[in-house]
Amino acid sequence: MGRSEDLFERARTCIPGGVNSPVRAFGSVGMTPRFIQRAEGSYVYDADGNKYLDFIGSWGPMILGHSNPVVLEAVEKAIRDGLSYGAATEREVTMAELICSIVPSVEMVRMVNSGTEAVMSALRLARGYTGRTKIIKFTGCYHGHCDAMLVKAGSGVMTQGIPDSAGVPKGCTEDTLTAVYNNLESVEALMDANPRAVAAVIVEPVGANMGVVNPAPGFLEGLRTLCDKNGALLIFDEVITGFRLALDGAQGYFGVQPDLTTFGKIIGGGMPVGAYGGRKEIMSMVAPSGAVYQAGTLSGNPVAMAAGLAQLTALKDTPNLYSDLNDKANRFFTSLEITLKNAGIPFALNHTGSIGSVFFTGTPVGDYASSKTSDTERYRDYFAYMLSQGIYLAPSQFEAMFISCSHTEEELQLVLDCVSRYFQR
Ligand SMILES: *Cc1c(COP(=O)(O)O)cnc(C)c1O
Repeated sequence: MGRSEDLFERARTCIPGGVNSPVRAFGSVGMTPRFIQRAEGSYVYDADGNKYLDFIGSWGPMILGHSNPVVLEAVEKAIRDGLSYGAATEREVTMAELICSIVPSVEMVRMVNSGTEAVMSALRLARGYTGRTKIIKFTGCYHGHCDAMLVKAGSGVMTQGIPDSAGVPKGCTEDTLTAVYNNLESVEALMDANPRAVAAVIVEPVGANMGVVNPAPGFLEGLRTLCDKNGALLIFDEVITGFRLALDGAQGYFGVQPDLTTFGKIIGGGMPVGAYGGRKEIMSMVAPSGAVYQAGTLSGNPVAMAAGLAQLTALKDTPNLYSDLNDKANRFFTSLEITLKNAGIPFALNHTGSIGSVFFTGTPVGDYASSKTSDTERYRDYFAYMLSQGIYLAPSQFEAMFISCSHTEEELQLVLDCVSRYFQR
């Protein structure tokens, strides 16, 4: 028995399902998860000494590749000054200044410890600011595991076959209204049925938790207009898209400004960090300057800030980083499309910037219902084959493939070759 199998057996006796986050369990592909020992550049190495070309990148954070020396050095330097003080530090100010300078819609920002926390706090703030209670979310969009958002929440929930979560009281979700992604009429209908009651519309500007689903032209602009018309705030959940599609995220990439933005993943450089921010007038309502309470013992942690600052600074200061990354990813996905066409199987391929998904379905995928038409059995088989060839894709049909700056053209070609071989077998 391999070491990963061994570890999983041990893990299952003392950790629920053997993992600290469900998708890691490989449940939807019916395999034993690989226990990772270390990672460098484009590769992760498991406990059995296998090397995998990694396209998860910690689910997004590792946009520069694993163990980036600049980030590691910043962390090493920071830990010598102590791990946490629970007090204000200069790094937090530098971090906030940096984020505000990068993202025009963000004039003030509060650091938290995860994407979930960022969303939870942004929703509370939107409700506090508008004095309204209803939140509109989209079926298939994932916004972390806070109670109010565990309604039709995409990948992790979707593939576990749990429609929603047990343990969430009805009271916590009765103010959550669900609309259909890329369908403005569904949003308008909810707004009309709940006059002056909708505090915010929260959206993944590119859906990335039902597989990658691009916003149709005009969708994000339409949400902006509907929110303005109804006095609701527009929240972009940029936990995946932030600092990924462009330095200023999806809002820069698509040119639509939200009122509030949530960040996570890339913002921490691999450390547990989240943030939410927006206009000064709204953000000033957060305690201690305002009446919306939100706090965190480890928020703005000095080591986490050092990692995040180093990564964001590298992203900001490397010329052409985003155009190079997006061009490289676009070439790859275009070639992948040709490869799949040649294979003659039904598929839909969605991609924006450096994230993308292959869906094994003949139906174009533009929302949750169409993504659900995918043949997950085929994905399971495809995933197993790719993993056996040393290529580590997301262990779920409904997660994105993340291309990082460290992936070379040669490494991407390996994937294409592997996909061809899979379909020629
Ligand atoms: C990952 C994710 C979250 C949750 O972030 P965590 O750090 O896992 O709590 C929220 N929103 C989106 C869009 C995400 O992809």
